[in-house]
Amino acid sequence: MKKQTSTKEKVNELERMRQRTAELEKVDAKRKRAEETPALAAAHWQDTFDAMEDMVVIIDKDFHIVRANRAMDKAFAGVKVLGAHCYELMHGTEGPIPNCPSYQTFSSGEAAHAEVCEQHLGSRCFDISTYPVKDNDGTVQQVVHVTRDITGRKRVEKALRESEEKLRVTFESISDAVAVIDLEGRFTQVNEAAARMTGYTKEELVGRNVLDTMIAKKDHDKIVLDMAKTLEEGGALGIRSYTLVTKDGREFESEFSTAVLRDSSGNVINLIGVARDVTERKRAEKERERLLAELEDKSKEMKQLLFVASHDLRSPLVNIQGFTREIERSLQQVHSVLEEEDVPSAVKEKLAAPIEEGIADSLSYILASTSKIDTLLTGLLKLSRLGQVAITIEKLNMSELMAEVVDGFEFQTKEAGVKLEVGKLPPCQGDKAQINQVFSNLIGNALKYLDPERPGVIRVSGGKEDSKAVYTVEDNGIGIAPEHQETVFQIFQRVGSSTSSGEGLGLTIVRRILDRHGGKVWLESEPGRGSRFHVSLPIGD
Ligand code: ADP
Repeated sequence: MKKQTSTKEKVNELERMRQRTAELEKVDAKRKRAEETPALAAAHWQDTFDAMEDMVVIIDKDFHIVRANRAMDKAFAGVKVLGAHCYELMHGTEGPIPNCPSYQTFSSGEAAHAEVCEQHLGSRCFDISTYPVKDNDGTVQQVVHVTRDITGRKRVEKALRESEEKLRVTFESISDAVAVIDLEGRFTQVNEAAARMTGYTKEELVGRNVLDTMIAKKDHDKIVLDMAKTLEEGGALGIRSYTLVTKDGREFESEFSTAVLRDSSGNVINLIGVARDVTERKRAEKERERLLAELEDKSKEMKQLLFVASHDLRSPLVNIQGFTREIERSLQQVHSVLEEEDVPSAVKEKLAAPIEEGIADSLSYILASTSKIDTLLTGLLKLSRLGQVAITIEKLNMSELMAEVVDGFEFQTKEAGVKLEVGKLPPCQGDKAQINQVFSNLIGNALKYLDPERPGVIRVSGGKEDSKAVYTVEDNGIGIAPEHQETVFQIFQRVGSSTSSGEGLGLTIVRRILDRHGGKVWLESEPGRGSRFHVSLPIGD
């Protein structure tokens, strides 16, 4: 019985011992855990502290840095951070700045925040947050100072502000009316010009519908359709013409264009409309059309006049010339009769003066004048025909054309011993016969107005300038005085007491032909040294 009990007791004893051991192990583990936790926590805290991208320091009451994380060490590499005076290091000042966050946190016991840009740190900008570390009495013993470098963000914000300002100034200073319109057709933003154009204030326009304020009734359907189209196509609609209306009901013509505005996800959020008042332009266009029509009428009238003058005046002139010659012949007969012997000498003497001087001189004046009129009429007829003749524009090989022109002057140049040189000439577009006429007139003049005192040299050259072909006919002749350099192109204008023949029409014809070709003629000249006539003509493709 005793043996039995002792065995059972042993079993119980063993069980108790196992439980006790387990309990002791638990207590030991607990103790060990209790011993390890602060170290682990501290290590874990340091890792977190160092892993932070922001610069974090802990500052004591004297503003000395007692702890700094890796980001801080990195930012101030080469500088001893621990123990450094916070203000000296961070703000470049000797003492605390009253409104700086760490100072505020020490004095108020509350967290504080500020954004500062530090000159002494290369104008970098920082976002600073400070948090109090208090003892059991609630006294702030230390401050955790978290600094984030926001220089990049600040730069972006500044650029954004500047670009917004530029946009705002552009928006306001633009002379066209510009409006941002929401998807219901209400103005959300308008510029000064929109207010000026409509007579509403900007405040009156914002929030109101475009149709109710700005668009004349007759164009409502049109603009609704156009805006729907802009939204549907999601782009910009070209320029449309709408009649706009002002606050006091005055209607005016406008050119209007619309485009969609999207948010950053690409969704259409607004429409932008730009309107231009074209009243003045339309008026100017109408005036231009009226003047052109008037000019056309005048031009027709001029052509008729030119034709009548040159053609119809010729018949009476021919009559005058014919009858003058008739009188001349009759006078001859009177003269012969007077020479006969049976005419008394007293009669002969009386008639001699009127017949030989008076009548004869008058007749020669009449004939000289009619011949002058004849020349003028021939010139006018030439000009009148020039304006009527149809021109055929083609690509011209100017080297070939000039060779033909020069051939026409071969005899004259040889006889006068003139050196006539032609350089390389670019092609141009023009009517062959008329361009031939231009250069014939210019070379003809160059020959005509050479200086007899020196051997004549005439050069023809060419090149390209501003997509035009420019040709020059240069001579070493008598030259043209500055005051005549423009008048020589006027009809029947001849310079000085020119002894050479001419009608004063050659250069007028040159200019008229070039006008019809979209070309130009101008000259440079120095009296006594020579002249350079330049001709520009389209090159074409
Ligand atoms: P025209 O030769 O028949 O007089 P143009 O119209 O051809 O008429 O020329 C007008 C005037 O310009 C001429 O009378 C002449 O005085 C002057 N002129 C034209 N070409 C030259 C030139 N190459 N050198 C000097 N004077 C010139």
